[in-house]
Amino acid sequence: MITKELTYKKAFEIKSNTLKEKTARRNMLLNAAYATNPRLADIDVELSQIGAQLAIASLSGNSEKVAVLRKNSVALSKEKRAILKKEAVPEIEYDCPICNDSGYVGGKICDCVKKIAARVIVDELKTQMPLDDCTFEGFDLNYYSKDGENARKRMTAILKLCKEYVNSFNPQNSQNLLFMGAPGLGKTHLTLAIVSGVVDKGFIPFYGPAENLFTLISNERFTGENKGSYQSMLSCDLLVIDDLGTEYSNEFSKSMLYNLINSRLLSKKPTIINTNLTMKEIADRYGERIASRLIGGYNANKFIGVDVRQQKFLEENRGI
Ligand SMILES: [Zn+2]
Repeated sequence: MITKELTYKKAFEIKSNTLKEKTARRNMLLNAAYATNPRLADIDVELSQIGAQLAIASLSGNSEKVAVLRKNSVALSKEKRAILKKEAVPEIEYDCPICNDSGYVGGKICDCVKKIAARVIVDELKTQMPLDDCTFEGFDLNYYSKDGENARKRMTAILKLCKEYVNSFNPQNSQNLLFMGAPGLGKTHLTLAIVSGVVDKGFIPFYGPAENLFTLISNERFTGENKGSYQSMLSCDLLVIDDLGTEYSNEFSKSMLYNLINSRLLSKKPTIINTNLTMKEIADRYGERIASRLIGGYNANKFIGVDVRQQKFLEENRGI
């Protein structure tokens, strides 16, 4: 997973490269037009002279002269456009008419850059996870009917909770979710569906299996690699720690986990944690401090049913 800063850096690079290509193509045509139409260069000189005269005239309050100069300027611009049109030099067509592809409106990052940033994140996530397969639509509740209606009822409610979570997502006050339960019951599937939904809405999540997240943090701390990772985990719109409990843990990772959970709780930034551990196992492994933060600050949901991965495997291999 890449940091918010890197994501935006990439998004701006993509944006400016597209604009550069467009400008370069137009400049070629423009140069050719100037070479065959000396009048164009003359018009530019006249326009810049008028610009200077206009400034003086309007500063001295000579409104008559201002009006005449404006009229001349408009006429010259029109003449220039006509020549360029004759020479088939197109106007630059911006991808985003709101910011003219500068990426900023009124000092703020334009939505077009946020959309590109979302694409950057999704592309990055797809290199690690089967994001396209993990949608809400692809979450098949039929797999949860094997041991009575109980599991199906529970999982229907959890699916609804996840969908609503995306719909009303707010990086300042969405609740924290703790998904518990045995492996193969769809915790990662639903979490990735949430991540996709949140990205679609223009927010920047940070997702990773616990093992990867702690490797990122310890590399940053001890080798200087992945600079900014820990800060991104602290400040991103949504932090997702997948598979907590499967990582190699030591005092350092335990204290980092506590910091992440506690800091995000204090700053009211939402976090989702998936784990195969029970609350008692969490307390045994990470300490009461962390367990009590999770109990007090997270909406815990236990996934139940019969291992869906195994069911799918058996279906696919039936008759072999
Ligand atoms: Zn824009």
